[in-house]
Amino acid sequence: RSGAHGEVRRPCRVLLLLNPHSGKGQALALFNNHIQRMLHEAGVPYTLVITERQNHARELVRELDLSQWDALVIMSGDGLLFEVVNGLMEREDWEDAIQTPLGVLPGGSGNALAASIHHYSGSQPVSSEELLLSCGFLLCKGLVSRLDLTSVSMASNQRLFSFLSLAWGFVADVDIESEKYRHVGAARFTVGTLVRLASLRVYRGKLAYLPAEEPLSSKTPNGHLTTLTPSSPELGPQDNLLVPLDQPVPMHWTVVQDEDFVLVLAMYQSHLAEDLLAAPASRAEDGIIHLMYVKAGISRAALLRLFLAMEKGAHLTTNCPYVVYVKVRAMRLEPYSPKGTITVDGELVDYGPVQAQIHGSLARLITG
Ligand code: ADP
Ligand code: MG
Repeated sequence: RSGAHGEVRRPCRVLLLLNPHSGKGQALALFNNHIQRMLHEAGVPYTLVITERQNHARELVRELDLSQWDALVIMSGDGLLFEVVNGLMEREDWEDAIQTPLGVLPGGSGNALAASIHHYSGSQPVSSEELLLSCGFLLCKGLVSRLDLTSVSMASNQRLFSFLSLAWGFVADVDIESEKYRHVGAARFTVGTLVRLASLRVYRGKLAYLPAEEPLSSKTPNGHLTTLTPSSPELGPQDNLLVPLDQPVPMHWTVVQDEDFVLVLAMYQSHLAEDLLAAPASRAEDGIIHLMYVKAGISRAALLRLFLAMEKGAHLTTNCPYVVYVKVRAMRLEPYSPKGTITVDGELVDYGPVQAQIHGSLARLITG
């Protein structure tokens, strides 16, 4: 295997997982028309598996003989990579398994990681098929870098691994409600945002976080010296910054005074969607959760301006008093309302209290 920053082995044996229903339902045609020849000419042998149902890829990856493959690549939106990442982290050999280089070819309607990789490569923003060609090219180059993963724990004790985002409020609602506009492709988020703006509402809850500048001390998370053993997970890395969800957050965390929000959004990549540069400063392996929240009281017009500015990543410099942006390493969110929506990497997860901690450079990503 190659090092942290290296190339995938040549010839690189790629397992390519494709979700035929992603995006406008044209992922297979896009693959045949744009990618097949590119891989052939670059001398990249691949095996194509077309997923038959949700969680097919997750189950397949959980059981896969990884010694047979040099890279796992998805052609879909972010949802299929979420399945692959969690399938790898559910394995007994998760520590080795998650070292398998991962690649993305945007074929979905939510292609945030693909847009982020393209952005990190220093290229001008593009969308849809041009983004696919760019990612195909980067995949053929086969340069591998590190990728942060965030572990997200729910009250049910379930733990997920996330490479993109954790959202509650406006953004999470748009994520899920816009699924029905899938036929318009990446524009589904624009449509969804406009629809949601019309029924703008407030989300109540408690938000707390560990600022990134806080030195990572050897103290226990509570800040006192009695050794508090964080509950050890059966699989995956230990969340050494977190205390159990039924206990108050550690003393040195910041507890946000406001409890009325329009949105809470944690990002660990630059893009939230193809044309939404939500966290311009984020890099694939900066070990930072870029946490943003918008306080209640913002007008519809100001919120719309914020989303329009996000296209260029200018929303954090508009001096809007309702917008707060902090760099953190861990966070906790406790919604007050009994029903609602939380998304992780754009996928619906159990609603209720959640907390998260970033694990820097846990995975590897083909970035070119
Ligand atoms: P999009 O960006 O278009 O939403 P995703 O890759 O996010 O594309 O996939 C959408 C959802 O479909 C995800 O929840 C994924 O787990 C699920 N999925 C994957 N393969 C299939 C399949 N063959 N049939 C139905 N759903 C699938
Ligand atoms: Mg999706």
